[in-house]
Amino acid sequence: MGSLESEFFTMSKSVDSKEFKPLDPEEFREKAHKAVDFIADYYKNIENYPVLSQVQPGYLRNRLPKTPPNTPESFDIILRDVQNDIIPGMTHWLSPNFFAFFPATVSSAAFVGEMLCNCFNAVGFNWLASPAATELEMVVMDWLATMLQLPKSFMFSGSGGGVLQSTTSESILCTLVAARDRVLEEIGVQHIGKLVVYGSDQTHSTYMKVCKIAGIHPHNIRSLPTTVEDDFSLSPRLLRKVIEADVAQGLVPLYLCATMGTTSTTAIDPIKHLANVAVDYRIWIHVDAAYGGSACICPEYRHFLEGVELVDSLSLSPHKWLLTYLDCCCLWVKNPNLIVDSLSTNPEYLKNKISESDSVVSYKDWQVGTGRKFKSLRLWLILRSYGVTNLQNHIRTDIQMAKMFERFVRSDPRFEITVPRRFSLVCFRLKQFNGFDSAYIELLNKMLLERVNSTGRVYMTHTVVGGVYLLRFAVGATLTKDCHVVAAWELIKETTDALVKECYA
Ligand SMILES: *Cc1c(COP(=O)(O)O)cnc(C)c1O
Repeated sequence: MGSLESEFFTMSKSVDSKEFKPLDPEEFREKAHKAVDFIADYYKNIENYPVLSQVQPGYLRNRLPKTPPNTPESFDIILRDVQNDIIPGMTHWLSPNFFAFFPATVSSAAFVGEMLCNCFNAVGFNWLASPAATELEMVVMDWLATMLQLPKSFMFSGSGGGVLQSTTSESILCTLVAARDRVLEEIGVQHIGKLVVYGSDQTHSTYMKVCKIAGIHPHNIRSLPTTVEDDFSLSPRLLRKVIEADVAQGLVPLYLCATMGTTSTTAIDPIKHLANVAVDYRIWIHVDAAYGGSACICPEYRHFLEGVELVDSLSLSPHKWLLTYLDCCCLWVKNPNLIVDSLSTNPEYLKNKISESDSVVSYKDWQVGTGRKFKSLRLWLILRSYGVTNLQNHIRTDIQMAKMFERFVRSDPRFEITVPRRFSLVCFRLKQFNGFDSAYIELLNKMLLERVNSTGRVYMTHTVVGGVYLLRFAVGATLTKDCHVVAAWELIKETTDALVKECYA
């Protein structure tokens, strides 16, 4: 058949609406098999693509038709276009040469878990909507809590509980609103303008956004300065001072977001000492352990969570470091009732006897949305397919590779480790040499980063802390092996050689 003819054929077929079956099991089987082959080939060949996409803004609009097709297109042709049009516009987060931001780790088990989640497409807003969805989430949240050695007060088997959110932002929002409403109940809603929230200048930028959404007055969001001497962690002494000043002014301290592994440099706020300050003022303490928390499944890193028994809530995003596809953020709370008090709804169309009896969890009351995916399947698959031991090894292997990179940096007198390494992120930079001033050194570091990234062989990012520009090398993409770290360092070194030579030219 010629292409015109075949096009006419598909067109005339599609006109018959009885023929349109969006979920034909056999057609699904065929397409899904092809898609799985496509994905497996992509993973196999991923190193052939530049890690950082090289396209210019607007590239895709020019390649695609102005309007959608009226008639069906073949799946093969669509996949071909993914290959030719979409892949060039991808920054390959799963590339073993991806060392930017934090890794977004994945696994076969999580992928299959996601397929099963999609298989059912259960909208698990309450227990009856799919009992397994609610109950598995409760089991998996307790399993993970056990792995992290969280106290019983955060578990369903104790007096607390956990929920799967999409992002840290939502975890903070839900707990902040719970804390807010508890206090407003006492002081009256007209005093919302008195509520003060605390974090450090290293707290994730989303905190500011979430506080605004929760109605905290922008003047009452305290971003306490950190220093290089404290490795950019939040000082309990400073926190107390600032809280005391606020109280003296008639303001009401509400919420503290402490971070276990900040986004810039993986700095660790001293949870126990901060909690000892905050409890004196009945402040809700949340620990954001989005990235670093995963390391605490290894006993040797658990001490970073010391004092967690004193806080009100903790969030951790397995989509960063626990081999889970986006999006997945675990939130544990000591007193789930406070969240439910703030967020519960009870419309007629969702009512049923079991939920009314309060004997089951209605996860819709623990989150922003009503509908929710059966995300726990993914984590369940991961935990069962790999076991705790392999997950611990996965964390340890990443940290070993980061340590290796750290040794490379230390072995080259032109470089320094700028901030102590905690997990698998190395913060480093070209240091002052040959009497170059700091502005010039910053420029050299920027040029180094840009040149390394423009090769497409490695992707790293940067940050600025304490006024210092530094490079971030985050090890942990699932496919990364020692050889990739070695090659990345070679590239950084060669690029530096060339740069330094140009300085003297
Ligand atoms: C990545 C990260 C976040 C952002 O989380 P979202 O899930 O995208 O909202 C928040 N906090 C820390 C410490 C992070 O590393």
